[in-house]
Amino acid sequence: MGNDASGIIDFEQVRIRRHDHLVRGTAADGMVRAIAVTARQTVETAHVNHNTSPLVSAALGRLMMAGLMMGALFKSPDELITLEVHGDGPIGGITVTANSIGQVKGFANHPNVWLPLNAAGKLDVGGGVGRGTLTVVRDLPGMAPYSSQTELTSGEIGDDLAAHFALSDQVPTSVGVGVLVNPDTSIRQAGGFILQLMPNYEYFLVDELEHRLADVTSVTSLLEEGLGPTDLLAKILDGLDYQELETSPAEFYCGCNKERATRATLALGEEELRDMVAKGETAEVHCHFCGRNHYLTPDELRSLLARS
Ligand SMILES: [Zn+2]
Repeated sequence: MGNDASGIIDFEQVRIRRHDHLVRGTAADGMVRAIAVTARQTVETAHVNHNTSPLVSAALGRLMMAGLMMGALFKSPDELITLEVHGDGPIGGITVTANSIGQVKGFANHPNVWLPLNAAGKLDVGGGVGRGTLTVVRDLPGMAPYSSQTELTSGEIGDDLAAHFALSDQVPTSVGVGVLVNPDTSIRQAGGFILQLMPNYEYFLVDELEHRLADVTSVTSLLEEGLGPTDLLAKILDGLDYQELETSPAEFYCGCNKERATRATLALGEEELRDMVAKGETAEVHCHFCGRNHYLTPDELRSLLARS
């Protein structure tokens, strides 16, 4: 390496690493694909937007991080992934949509569920979700959406996604996702990883990874020790020649705006719009994904009618 390069700090990389971000890497001669995320601020935004209880912050946060990591594996910047969990537990359902550039949004049907801690002294995500299904929808513009559904194994999200990868995609996969909540309900830690064996894998890797992951009992305790996504993967894949390929930012982002709200209002139909104008009503369009409300005043409705 030339002398010139050694002292240069990549400020963009430093900036990304201080905030929520994803890292993607490979190990064991390309036989292992690895991705990890830190997403405290992303989950905090979801918590604030939807006023989630600690239990729902954990459930929604885990699914959002899974969406971020799965989205980051896509090649096309326009591809979207939607993860839907439907369970018979008190949370009811959770919906998350992520893209390939580190943006995710999501909501839970019942954001304010409280349950006693489970036998392990942890937030009872499995009890809150219950039994049901996980649906994964991949959406690439210009193509028919591709959807696959599997039964939930525990409702703890990480296990359910691992089972989904194994059954639906036939890819041996380990998923670890964790959210730690402060006593004041703000988010203390959020992070996770996905490890996958590529089609050319050698069988010793199955036992090898299983053995290593048995030591990773809790993602959040590793985050509490100060490990970031890079450290997490380097630790789990220590000795397997882990190579980091890419680091990219992650955030809670919803693309809803007044223009989209206006289109949704137009879809109500002319008669309904006339009725609202006659009564002097303001149209309110609520976005489930981010919890924002968009308003159209009677004047705006009137000009909308005039234009349509
Ligand atoms: Zn929104």
